[in-house]
Amino acid sequence: MKTLSEYLDLAAQTHGHLCAGQVLGVRLAMLGLRELGIDDPIEERKRIVTYVEIDRCVTDAVALVANCRLGKRALKFRDWGKVAATFVDLKTGRAVRIAAKESSKQAAREKFPELEKEVGQQKAYAALSDDILFDKQWVKVIVPPEDLPGFKGPRVICVQCGEGINFKREVVVDGRTLCRACAGERYYQLLD
Ligand SMILES: [Zn+2]
Ligand SMILES: [Zn+2]
Repeated sequence: MKTLSEYLDLAAQTHGHLCAGQVLGVRLAMLGLRELGIDDPIEERKRIVTYVEIDRCVTDAVALVANCRLGKRALKFRDWGKVAATFVDLKTGRAVRIAAKESSKQAAREKFPELEKEVGQQKAYAALSDDILFDKQWVKVIVPPEDLPGFKGPRVICVQCGEGINFKREVVVDGRTLCRACAGERYYQLLD
């Protein structure tokens, strides 16, 4: 694993700026990997699947450190609005969920009161102990085969819109094979 400051440099590059969220995310992911005993997330990339529970600054940093990307199917998004992530070790089946403590923000604000808010928070998230910042839970995550990176399966066609569906995401309604949009889960509306 790289050092905190090496990760922060990388995070600033990938994310576009250094911010308190990057520092917190780097710390969160480093803790998760350390708990799983994964020392080199680049070398061991096929071993890790990460579930993130928010799409904010912190997410980019978690994905960077855990070396999990959406396009590699190793990053899963559960939109729960929580600063938390679960790291699954596919080799051992162990998984650990790390969540930022509700009190961590306040703790960070109080650590360097003389500094400007954002700068103080960044420094504090780098300095405070894991115990102050995070809660840790050992959990079990069942990752279905079709969710695993590298899954190969049949591609089916939605009988309504004709678009192809991968990874068993189709649903059968009244005997008709539909994509989730046609089955009613559409997040967009068609304009005429
Ligand atoms: Zn940011
Ligand atoms: Zn469809």
